Amino acid sequence: MDCLFCKIVNGEIPSKKVYEDDSVYAFYDIAPMAPVHVLIVPKEHIASVNEVTAENSAVISHIYEVAAKLAKELGIADDGYRVVTNCGANAGQTVFHLHFHVLGGTKLKVEMC
Ligand code: AMP
Ligand code: ZN
Repeated sequence: MDCLFCKIVNGEIPSKKVYEDDSVYAFYDIAPMAPVHVLIVPKEHIASVNEVTAENSAVISHIYEVAAKLAKELGIADDGYRVVTNCGANAGQTVFHLHFHVLGGTKLKVEMC
């Protein structure tokens, strides 16, 4: 499958890994929008929130567990941070492999994101 984040998960394309386990992979965003900007993705290819079902949704709660753990480790948990996923064109999704942005390290703008 010609998917950028599948290739990152498989190691075909390099990334700055932050965390990995059996079902998820986390790495630094190549174009950070905040001092801390990490992406957490399921290893399984799920294109977007539109493709989350009862069969594959367990990884979503796990992603939030990982987000909480990484926020503590990266020192942004106490001051606060944002976890966001874009779905489809109107949200500006550019990579169609489900991913959660973890953004922190500064006062984030209160916009629709
Ligand atoms: P989205 O716009 O929500 O689909 O987010 C896609 C994100 O992937 C953007 O923040 C990009 O900067 C990021 N991105 C694209 N290519 C790479 C890459 N090779 N390594 C790390 N992050 C990437
Ligand atoms: Zn993929």
